[in-house]
Amino acid sequence: MIRGIKGVKDILPDEIARWQTIEDEARRLSLVYGYQEIRVPVFEVTELFARSIGASTDIVEKEMYTFQDRDGKSLTLRPEATAGVVRAYIEHNLGASPASQKFFYLGPMFRHERPQAGRLRQFHQYGVESFGSKSPLADVEVISLLWRFLTGLGLPDLTLEINSLGDASDRPAYKAALLEFLKKREERLCQNCRRRMGTNPLRVLDCKTPGCKAATEDAPQISDHLSPGSRQHLRDVQASLGDLGIPYTLNPRLVRGLDYYTLTAFEVTCRHLGAQNAVGAGGRYDGLVEALGGPSTPAVGFAVGLERVSLMLPDAAIPSPQKMVFVAAFGQQGVAVGTRVLDELRALGVRADTDYRATTLKAHLRQADRLGAAFVVIIGDDEAAKGNLLVRNMRTKEQEELPHLTAARSLASRLKTV
Ligand code: ATP
Ligand code: MG
Repeated sequence: MIRGIKGVKDILPDEIARWQTIEDEARRLSLVYGYQEIRVPVFEVTELFARSIGASTDIVEKEMYTFQDRDGKSLTLRPEATAGVVRAYIEHNLGASPASQKFFYLGPMFRHERPQAGRLRQFHQYGVESFGSKSPLADVEVISLLWRFLTGLGLPDLTLEINSLGDASDRPAYKAALLEFLKKREERLCQNCRRRMGTNPLRVLDCKTPGCKAATEDAPQISDHLSPGSRQHLRDVQASLGDLGIPYTLNPRLVRGLDYYTLTAFEVTCRHLGAQNAVGAGGRYDGLVEALGGPSTPAVGFAVGLERVSLMLPDAAIPSPQKMVFVAAFGQQGVAVGTRVLDELRALGVRADTDYRATTLKAHLRQADRLGAAFVVIIGDDEAAKGNLLVRNMRTKEQEELPHLTAARSLASRLKTV
């Protein structure tokens, strides 16, 4: 037997209601906030990710699924979608449109990581990207959308942390100060951090190794290196979050794994998720569009991991399925009428089903029970000859006779009242 790939999961019908609840809410809220759906490919040329995410990030260094196609071109399965959305934004000149430049996406991402609960090799993200505004209110809009999405679904014990990473001109002085500090602690850092110290010292602050966490506890903070403009931007974000009643904490150690972030960075974590506690994260990336060859364009966005949302989703958030009618038909005439009634019910949009394998009433009723049917239509040759059929209410066990011709319609209206 051929098995699926490690860390790449099937989503089976049992779980589908959870996923649809989450995806429906993502679509609904995105539209409410004025974001339009965009669908970008699941693979792109490798250089797009290397250039946007950054060569010395975990993703690009060790997590990408990169392969040569038959033409010898290096391609990569997308590890995230921002790079693709930005490429599409530039390629189709979406910035020229006077209408909204706010987009959302839903779909699978691919990273070669060690699989565990909440960490897969194919996982799913919902994300948004808002282009064209430098305003701190654009940051707050994106954070508000993420917060409302997660709290609206009833996820418990969420924490929102924010920080400012400064702009491109604040970063060099901070990097230098941080590097000087790290050099003095080098022996206490993990191999990985020693290596990336020189290329990307901010990443050391994001290391999950306890030794590195302890060694950098009193590291210099970016907040002491912010220009007045960057400082004001952060203050404005905080003030507006306060106004909207969105609870947050300032975490001066919050850095993001991707190189393209500037100014606001944020992350939502959930206490119950254990080691993989980040549910969603994002920030401003004012330099990325230009870095990828487009016009200078400020932007801000987030991505949220849907496997982690699904793990935390309370059952009460999942709407119960539409009530259904089961058709139990016997005999040649009975089956002919039953098939017609089944079809009429479906044409009316009523969830209706039968069991083509069942030959006895008992077998039919057992299947109706398994499917949770609200009503069972019973029809054999006798009923067919009289032009009637029997309808059994599965909860009260009451039965009544209805004429064939109007049965589907009266069942459809009855379903609304049970
Ligand atoms: P982590 O610190 O957990 O590795 P990250 O910083 O790599 O997260 P992002 O690139 O910011 O994650 O992606 C945003 C969200 O996508 C994460 O908060 C998480 O919910 C989800 N995510 C990231 N990687 C995975 C994965 N391998 N499996 C499942 N979900 C993931
Ligand atoms: Mg990661």
